Amino acid sequence: MSSHKRYRAPALRWYDYVDHFWVKCPECDQAASIELPFAFNTQKAIVKCRSCFWHTDYATRLRYEPAAGGRCSVCCAKLAKPSVALPKPNKNTFLPCKSCKAANLVLRWEKTFKKYGNKGARDPIFGLPLYFTAEISDQTFWIINLKHLETLLSYLEASLRQKPLVSHNMSLVEKLPKFIIDARNRDKIISILRKWKEIMIENNMQ
Ligand SMILES: [Zn+2]
Ligand SMILES: [Zn+2]
Repeated sequence: MSSHKRYRAPALRWYDYVDHFWVKCPECDQAASIELPFAFNTQKAIVKCRSCFWHTDYATRLRYEPAAGGRCSVCCAKLAKPSVALPKPNKNTFLPCKSCKAANLVLRWEKTFKKYGNKGARDPIFGLPLYFTAEISDQTFWIINLKHLETLLSYLEASLRQKPLVSHNMSLVEKLPKFIIDARNRDKIISILRKWKEIMIENNMQ
């Protein structure tokens, strides 16, 4: 089973890549960088634009809303969910009952996190559009950072030279969507990745 011609995929899983994302700044559409101290540590995520100084972080986007399903303490009628969202729970927030007009103190708050969007290729934390995307065969091809790019590129370049035989069960390249490994798309994807890599190296984007 061992062949020296085999693509030597570093045994990296998706987990090893998702501590850094390049996304589009919601203010100026230029590249913004999302950084996490380690993968899936979303509560510590920060995002900064490289061009316009726009930035935010997870805690800033977090909001507290009165929990749904509350009932009036006087007449037991269901309280309408108000459109209030605050940076912190407020102990002096009252909701009016529509039936008896009693003011009900909000006792339970729930966390909400407003994503920027959810359509298309977006980062999983803030919901910002990914910066490096291309349409290939009606599918969106994307990479999140330089390490992700380099893994895909070396895998696809190796598959140009020989039939790829990937033996690493835990490798990222095993789980690639079919259109990426489709031989008909390979040259196009390789040239896109090389172009993106140039942009990243030139602009010191990791
Ligand atoms: Zn910007
Ligand atoms: Zn009431």
